[in-house]
Amino acid sequence: MHAWGAKMQVIAPGITRVATSKNDNSYLVEGVDGLTVVDAGRAGAADAVLHAAATLGMGVVRIVLTHAHPDHVQGSAVLRRRTSARVYIHNADAAWLSRGRVPADGRSGAMARRYDGLAAGQWTPVDADDVLTDGDVVGGLRVIHTPGHSPGHIALLHESTRAVLVGDAVFRTGRLGLGPAGFAADPDSRAAAVARIPGDLSAVGFGHGDPLIGQEVTDFETWRSRLAR
Ligand SMILES: [Zn+2]
Ligand SMILES: [Zn+2]
Repeated sequence: MHAWGAKMQVIAPGITRVATSKNDNSYLVEGVDGLTVVDAGRAGAADAVLHAAATLGMGVVRIVLTHAHPDHVQGSAVLRRRTSARVYIHNADAAWLSRGRVPADGRSGAMARRYDGLAAGQWTPVDADDVLTDGDVVGGLRVIHTPGHSPGHIALLHESTRAVLVGDAVFRTGRLGLGPAGFAADPDSRAAAVARIPGDLSAVGFGHGDPLIGQEVTDFETWRSRLAR
């Protein structure tokens, strides 16, 4: 057991949130062939993800990354090595993943660019096994390209339950928001990206913070409609 309890929470039938640290979430999506892990977390996150997978009694067959930022991909090299899972990322973030860091022009803010020079902002380079584009379906998840936070950021719609995993396209650390502009590759695209996420949702899972489930999804829709005005 980890200090933070490696919190597991079912957000929709077949989708379990794993809090790999106080602030970072991975998700385990059950499929006929095994588990799809959405986001691999920080460098030490593989233990928590594999512990959760073992609890569910299923093997990890693929790793889908919402975007190539360190807090979502640092764990992917270890997790792939320990599971032989295939790694997927959107075409527009694949070069970042292979490089092991966010390139200098990949962040708009000077402070974020400084962070990219630190070890905490970098990761073991990983070549994706397959790249994704908008509309692809992988492990029962439909890819929705939501660029802005990064060029190849994706949200993932679980088609059978209509739960959506939004990565860092939407932040829920306290209130709902678009996330820090300084950490976005193209801050001006963030609102349009959120508009691309479909409605009629059963749950919203975030890269950071607690999910919205059932009636709580109304909060997301209300926030989004205000954003559009
Ligand atoms: Zn991010
Ligand atoms: Zn993040």
